[in-house]
Amino acid sequence: MALDPNPRLWVAEKVSHGYVADYKPFSFVDGEGVRCSLYVSGCLFKCDGCFNEGAWSFRCGKPYDDALQEEILSDLAHESIQGLSLLGGEPFLNTQVALRIVQGLRERFGRSKDVWCWTGYTFEELCRDSDDKRALLAEVDVLVDGRYEHAMRDLTLPHRGSRNQRVLDARASLDADRAVPYLGVADPLGRLGDAERTGLAGAA
Ligand code: SF4
Repeated sequence: MALDPNPRLWVAEKVSHGYVADYKPFSFVDGEGVRCSLYVSGCLFKCDGCFNEGAWSFRCGKPYDDALQEEILSDLAHESIQGLSLLGGEPFLNTQVALRIVQGLRERFGRSKDVWCWTGYTFEELCRDSDDKRALLAEVDVLVDGRYEHAMRDLTLPHRGSRNQRVLDARASLDADRAVPYLGVADPLGRLGDAERTGLAGAA
């Protein structure tokens, strides 16, 4: 069973060391289109069956630095790249890294490149959490949210591993003050997760 933190209990500036586990340019698997994927290091949720236990450590990989920031921004400039994907580990417990690259993207490309982010937090939890988490949420276009629940594992769902997880239009969700599904997502089987079918109740 994954851990359920109270709002503001986990603080990025206390747990993150600014490390990243991996960076993959020109990825086809982390969201829609061709993307640059950044995997930050460290996660506290400890979901049973996590696909990436190796990235639970906040010292996994190497420190994020100016050279990698510039490499990613340079790759994003390529016309075939649709946007940036933030994965983990937990991006919202590494807001020092995640905000830095997202703000760099917005300064250079505005909204012409999109940002997808995978998180163990739910949208509702992030809305109640700290300023840095809400600042990152405000820059995300598509949020794939919620813990991975092994009992609800379904690998036929696009972009997520278990049926409680949701693919949300983050900007529309913030505007509406409730979780709004992302409608652009391709789903060849026409399936939604349980949370979407039941009216987008909180995933946690
Ligand atoms: S939130 Fe994601 S990275 Fe963290 S333990 Fe759960 S599945 Fe793994």
